[in-house]
Amino acid sequence: MGEDNKDEMQKPEQGSGESETKKREVEDCCYLCRRPESIAGKLIQLPQNIRVCRECLQKSIDMLESGNNPLFSGMMDPMLFSFGMPPMGGKNRQKAKEEKGKKAGAGEEAGGAMPPKVPAPHRIKAELDEYVIGQEQAKKAVAVAVYNHYKRIRADVLDGVEIEKSNILMLGPTGSGKTYMVQTLAKLLDVPLAVTDATSLTEAGYIGDDVESVLSKLLAAADNDIEKAEMGIVFIDEIDKIAKKRNTNSRDVSGEAVQQGLLKLLEGADVEVPVGATSKNAMVPMTTVSTRNILFICGGAFSGLEKVIKERLNKASAIGFSADLKDKYDQEKDILKRATAEDLREFGMIPEFLGRLPVICTLEDLSRDMLVSILTKPKNAIIKQYKKLLAMDEVELCFEQEALELIAERALEKKTGARALRAILEEFMLDIMYEIPKDETIGRVTITRDYIEQKGAPGIELRSGSVRALIGQNAAGR
Ligand code: ADP
Repeated sequence: MGEDNKDEMQKPEQGSGESETKKREVEDCCYLCRRPESIAGKLIQLPQNIRVCRECLQKSIDMLESGNNPLFSGMMDPMLFSFGMPPMGGKNRQKAKEEKGKKAGAGEEAGGAMPPKVPAPHRIKAELDEYVIGQEQAKKAVAVAVYNHYKRIRADVLDGVEIEKSNILMLGPTGSGKTYMVQTLAKLLDVPLAVTDATSLTEAGYIGDDVESVLSKLLAAADNDIEKAEMGIVFIDEIDKIAKKRNTNSRDVSGEAVQQGLLKLLEGADVEVPVGATSKNAMVPMTTVSTRNILFICGGAFSGLEKVIKERLNKASAIGFSADLKDKYDQEKDILKRATAEDLREFGMIPEFLGRLPVICTLEDLSRDMLVSILTKPKNAIIKQYKKLLAMDEVELCFEQEALELIAERALEKKTGARALRAILEEFMLDIMYEIPKDETIGRVTITRDYIEQKGAPGIELRSGSVRALIGQNAAGR
């Protein structure tokens, strides 16, 4: 066989190679910027079949050097490994942080996030007063706990004095302002906040979110800045729903197991956190977050706890010389205020969990007058918002006191606290917001009790001053 024959034998191979490239209908794209190879230039093949363009690789390495992007650090570890460089995730980053901390201690430019400067408790409470109506005791307790918490971090950074963590447990009926208070607090302190629901959490490996997902949310709220996230606040709502289930033979994956899982987060630990996902898996980049300085606030309505408290109090008052009426506490309002750790244990919270929430505060049921104040007083009260909207059309919006009281009474009936207010008000404001911009002569609208009762029309004053009922027919017809 001569040379020609060899060539002929190689031809079919070449042919199949070409057809293979033709078969590849979709052009390869950079794993990070998604640009196709024809635009981004030749892609670099990395382990785990990841292909990136030169530009992204360079950017990633630059970011890793600055050490503050968890997404990249998680994803780039295998790439760095292939270049013989140490990975940046986990312990290495921790070391880098520690070095940073040492530098800060030595008086050098820290570069890292410092804990927020926190105003004195009375100032925190005064700020909360501008938004949150009532709940005086809870506002006071939260102000002190938050003040101490951030003071503790500062002390840690500066002289290493260890003060215990003051995570908070908030008890209170739904719609009484638990989440709202925490949101206001986070805004005031300018720290990232993650609000999450305990009912979505399950033991790792089961359907639902892992407990670490609460930290993923915090990280997202801090724009993936780990140092900022590590000084943030996590609010876990519906915490009463993870009480230990009674009389159950099956594994309690969404109750006691979640409490167990949360222990290490509440206490303070370095936790491997999935970035941008709610559970760990091979495809999700991971990063390490320390929860030592994260303030955890857990809230719940704890319905049924009243019964436990009453039973305890009635039992105690029925014994001995000071024996009292058996049902003395049955009519007591806001009995949740008398809750002790023992009652909560009886309710189904495990002692270790309660031990990590040393500050317990109670929010009271909102009364009619408090609901009226919520409508009008807070800085961003709903009625202020409506007034502002109409003022833009140069129309003044007024509410009769009686109308406000009726709205509050209706909200009370719904038993969802202040949450019902907006829904009720919106129903009545729809016609107003629809009709008023039609008529440029209107100068003032007054919402009357009759209008809320659907017996009459709102008072309308024209710019000239005369009174007439413009949307009466509409309103009465509803
Ligand atoms: P929960 O106690 O169930 O967490 P929220 O804090 O979510 O209730 O309250 C729902 C809404 O009701 C809040 O967004 C807020 O506008 C309003 N609200 C509730 N309580 C108060 C309060 N004490 N002061 C002012 N607004 C409140």
